[in-house]
Amino acid sequence: MNPAERALREELIETCRGMNRLGINKGTSGNVSVRCGDGLLVSPTGIAYDALTAEKIVFMRWDGSYDGPILPSSEWRFHRDILAARPDLNAVVHTHSVHATTLAIMGRSIPAIHYMIAGAGGPTIRCAPYATFGTAELADAVLKAMEGRRACLLAHHGVIAAHVSMARALALAGTVEELAHQYLMCLPHGEPPVLSDAEIAVVLEKFRTYGQQPKSATGGMAA
Ligand code: 13P
Ligand code: ZN
Repeated sequence: MNPAERALREELIETCRGMNRLGINKGTSGNVSVRCGDGLLVSPTGIAYDALTAEKIVFMRWDGSYDGPILPSSEWRFHRDILAARPDLNAVVHTHSVHATTLAIMGRSIPAIHYMIAGAGGPTIRCAPYATFGTAELADAVLKAMEGRRACLLAHHGVIAAHVSMARALALAGTVEELAHQYLMCLPHGEPPVLSDAEIAVVLEKFRTYGQQPKSATGGMAA
């Protein structure tokens, strides 16, 4: 295993543990993948995150084949299909975070209740219709719900967030959970007002450069 791949495997394990540390996942539910060489690395199915080692992360080719005795996540299809179809995304995080899943149980998409929704790529986070976990039918529904977006809810199941890196995909999964929590807090008071598509377009533009400190302020290092 080359050092770059080993580093990605270690980061994938840290991302899995990060889901639980952030409180957006419990036990062995949820899974993580990242683009790697001619395929993807994906977390193994059903192994506690504390017990993960670099060798237990599965390298999968684009045709779904893999070597070795460790079975990949039961959700490898949506991980593989998202990374194959979306060159703008390099990493995928899936969790059963409680507030996002509650909305998903209700079949509700998240509207533009807060400007932070722009982090998901647009003015809504759609809820994909229910399909059995691990199926190609679920992967197809996910791709559709994620058109023009980096996140979606899965009816009666959970949430997917994807981004250019595992760190950003994990952070987006946290943002989706926060938006879902806020939306659920609003709903007992009625359907909340939402931001217009034009306002979200303004935020999308600002997010292109948000948080980037000048190099002079960071000693020449990327912030
Ligand atoms: P795996 O343990 O197979 O990754 O499955 C967890 C899960 O969340 C299924 O949707
Ligand atoms: Zn799941």
